[in-house]
Amino acid sequence: MPFFSGEKRKPRAGFFKFSCCTGCGFELAYFQRSLEDTLKSFDFTFFRLAYSSGALEGPFDLALVEGTVTEPHQAVELKRIRENSAVLYAVGSCAIAGGIPAIKAGGRELEIEKRVYQKKLYRLTSMRPSVLSDYVKVDGCVRGCPPGRRDLEEALVSILLHRRPEFIEYSVCVECKLRGNICLLVDEGLPCMGPVTNAGCGALCPACHRACYSCFGLMSRANIPALKNKFRELGLSGEEIERRFTLFDALRLKK
Ligand code: SF4
Ligand code: SF4
Ligand code: SF4
Repeated sequence: MPFFSGEKRKPRAGFFKFSCCTGCGFELAYFQRSLEDTLKSFDFTFFRLAYSSGALEGPFDLALVEGTVTEPHQAVELKRIRENSAVLYAVGSCAIAGGIPAIKAGGRELEIEKRVYQKKLYRLTSMRPSVLSDYVKVDGCVRGCPPGRRDLEEALVSILLHRRPEFIEYSVCVECKLRGNICLLVDEGLPCMGPVTNAGCGALCPACHRACYSCFGLMSRANIPALKNKFRELGLSGEEIERRFTLFDALRLKK
């Protein structure tokens, strides 16, 4: 049901969480003060982190979904959210690329559960992690871990203005150069993931003299072989290189 047909009501929004640290939800609900007025333009009828009550059923004009799908019931829930939402955006590296929860994709489920839960009763309820787009159509990706203000605002404003969102799709290097940083990769030989990482953080780490470790995830058209070659020239082992490229994108690179 379209919501820009002369209706006066606010767009209905829901924020949903699957397996993750909930950092994206915290970021939106508590840390992005400058988005307060934009958020007030919505009627958040479901946002468990912000309100103890809420109507899970929808319908929603906008569904924001964070986290990785790691249990069968989450896949069912995600499909239900999709059916009840006009627009669905994946929020954060966990939802878009697998993020930290997807690290377990490299091992056997039961062995990993035993390592995590030690002597507790083993209940094999989890499954191989999946990104949201493995199960449902995703209308846009709000990248980051957690996302920055610019793309969060773009997600909300796109709904208010009834237009396609324009999310950031260039590398951290662009933001880094705009800040006037000295390049850690070229000048100091540090293994910076900036050239292949989607921007949005404002080149936070290089600005603090730390190599980017790609928490915003790999760009869709990243030149991965070129940066791997560069890292080999710097003396990194194959294992060290692989770890850098799979820390937040373990699923995408295994496909
Ligand atoms: S993307 Fe990062 S901040 Fe967001 S839920 Fe996943 S781990 Fe937490
Ligand atoms: S320091 Fe890293 S992010 Fe900055 S320009 Fe160099 S490679 Fe790119
Ligand atoms: S510089 Fe890289 S690791 Fe640091 S916040 Fe930005 S994307 Fe994440």
